[in-house]
Amino acid sequence: MILIDKKIFKAMQEFAKNNHPNEIIVLLRGKRENDNIHITDWLLPPFGTGGNGFATFPTHMLPIDFTIMGTAHSHPSGRLTPSTMDLNNFYGRVMMIIGPPYEKPRAAAYHKNGEQIPIRFSPRQ
Ligand SMILES: [Zn+2]
Repeated sequence: MILIDKKIFKAMQEFAKNNHPNEIIVLLRGKRENDNIHITDWLLPPFGTGGNGFATFPTHMLPIDFTIMGTAHSHPSGRLTPSTMDLNNFYGRVMMIIGPPYEKPRAAAYHKNGEQIPIRFSPRQ
């Protein structure tokens, strides 16, 4: 399971909303807690590019950072399933996809093999 504070998710969702209809991509920072991954922060990848239908960043430019648990990107179409390209460009342990409507927490997360991971939004403010 992925645990993410609502407040952190909301900020990420706001960023996606502000860039709609372009895709955004961010790095998810956090820690492993037993079998769960707790996302505590997100940040912009260096040299990331967003566009209509794609959002990427050069992974070889990243410093080795073991607090990076994976990535989150938006699907402005609202479809929360990963594309083949998404799975081929997987970075880290988890991939989160967020999409409109951006009014309430809405996201899906996946393992590298495409298997879905449940997300729990923590109500902590
Ligand atoms: Zn995608």
